[in-house]
Amino acid sequence: MSKKIAIVGAGPGGLATAIRLAGLGYQVQIFEAAERIGGRMRGLEVDSYAFDTGPTILQLPHLYEELFQEAGLNFADYVQLKRLEPYTRIRFWDGTQLDLTSDLGAFKTQLANLRSDLPLAFERWYTEHIRKYQLGYKPYLGSPVRSLLGYLRWNEIVSLVSFRPWESLYQHFWRFFQDERLVYALSYPSKYLGMHPTVAASVFSLIPFLEFAQGVWHPLGGFRALAQGLGKAAQDLGVQIHLNCPVHQVWIEQGQTRGIELAGGERLNFDAVVINADFGYAIRHLLPTSARGRYTDRKLNQMQFSCSTFMLYLGINRRYEDLPHHQIYLSEQIRRRDRPWVDDSALDETDPPIYVCNPTIIDPSNAPDGHSTLYVLVPIPNTSYAVDWDIKQKSYQDFILKRLSLLGYDNIEQHIVTQRCYTASTWRDDYLVHLGAVFNLSHNWSQLGPFRPPIRSENISGLYWIGGAVHPGSGLLTILEATRSAAGFINQDFPLT
Ligand SMILES: Cc1cc2nc3c(=O)[nH]c(=O)nc-3n(C[C@H](O)[C@H](O)[C@H](O)COP(=O)(O)OP(=O)(O)OC[C@H]3O[C@@H](n4cnc5c(N)ncnc54)[C@H](O)[C@@H]3O)c2cc1C
Repeated sequence: MSKKIAIVGAGPGGLATAIRLAGLGYQVQIFEAAERIGGRMRGLEVDSYAFDTGPTILQLPHLYEELFQEAGLNFADYVQLKRLEPYTRIRFWDGTQLDLTSDLGAFKTQLANLRSDLPLAFERWYTEHIRKYQLGYKPYLGSPVRSLLGYLRWNEIVSLVSFRPWESLYQHFWRFFQDERLVYALSYPSKYLGMHPTVAASVFSLIPFLEFAQGVWHPLGGFRALAQGLGKAAQDLGVQIHLNCPVHQVWIEQGQTRGIELAGGERLNFDAVVINADFGYAIRHLLPTSARGRYTDRKLNQMQFSCSTFMLYLGINRRYEDLPHHQIYLSEQIRRRDRPWVDDSALDETDPPIYVCNPTIIDPSNAPDGHSTLYVLVPIPNTSYAVDWDIKQKSYQDFILKRLSLLGYDNIEQHIVTQRCYTASTWRDDYLVHLGAVFNLSHNWSQLGPFRPPIRSENISGLYWIGGAVHPGSGLLTILEATRSAAGFINQDFPLT
């Protein structure tokens, strides 16, 4: 007999879980508070310009292909991906630059211009990561969380030691390169894990390796199209998606999930509930106090959450054909080791790092002819630190627009036709993200593996979590891996007969 599963939230994690469960034969319904699917990647239209709001970097396309294939679908029928090559230009504080590319020969030629021994050091690093990928990817990213004892298997201890868990990402790269430009260029993904490289776990050196080895990709039509593709696939498998339909609370009786209660008070019965809404928000708003387990307000306050992001979405009346799709300016400040630079607890009003995405060049459908869109991201403190965005927003926006010349966007103000700005408050209030901490719980060793909230609730049966704050962590590829575990748990607990 089929079982009924409710999913709270149509973020990428909720949609992918729905595809897996529907593919297995479950009856799935998604309840989404917003008017469109996609969560942080739902996108935004302003006049004739269309913007991606959150993710811009897609890694490991085979994860999407497998997700669709396992549900009996063909990913290419829903979404087209384009590989970016080179994929990211890094501009450094000293005026030098580096194009990250999977063409390792071309990359080593650039390294030789920075310092003659760097190409060899890079080869050593790359070779070591081929082995680390085989040892580390499955046990840590691709498996559901176990108890601490569950990790004490001899082969996994050996593999963990080879990751040198005592090292930070910074120490890891420094050991190989002794050049801060390369150290920060390769550890930039730590920012979107919400951490400075000097405190991020060294295991995340796997991410730049995977980008070199398997590329960085862009969905045609943007990540909005990826969200729509996931939604269409779910619907083709029979999933019902209810938009503008906020869930008020998960309905729980005697430690057992019964279903959900909608904002209007209506109760709907389900065998199991998957929460895809942001963990910090959902723990506080979607569970009765008695069901929160160890995640009390006190515990939440002790947990470390990521930075937030200041976003400018610009519709402009020209194109920058000669500037790359992804560009990052790494400022001098990123080299500082003291607070507030390491924990993003203060707003950087002098020299912040800046990321700009220039998608129209390869994906012209998002703007009128001859025009384009730009996506500008600056890391900022989450809302637990006092920045009054009502007062600050305009002056910070003007400041960042001027700084865009550092990435080749001179006098951009003269070309802006339309714009939208997001602050930490927007992420918190409009996207329901706890503290506006868009990259979720930080990824230090004390909040990873068995120390991260698990997918299957510890104290409520029939309740599951999917999203960036739970195991194994934030980012699309990680969440996609986690959906396999979530569907596996539900299949164990509620087998189809
Ligand atoms: C600016 C930015 C840049 C990023 N860049 C990248 C990147 O380049 N690559 C990458 O891999 N990742 C990136 N990320 C991270 C990525 O976007 C997130 O990891 C991912 O969106 C999290 O997905 P999720 O499934 O946890 O759900 P979310 O995207 O958080 O979606 C949760 C959904 O739940 C809904 N919801 C909340 N409460 C309720 C309720 N009560 N009832 C019903 N629905 C509810 C929300 O409306 C939302 O739609 C970025 C994020 C941001 C913000």
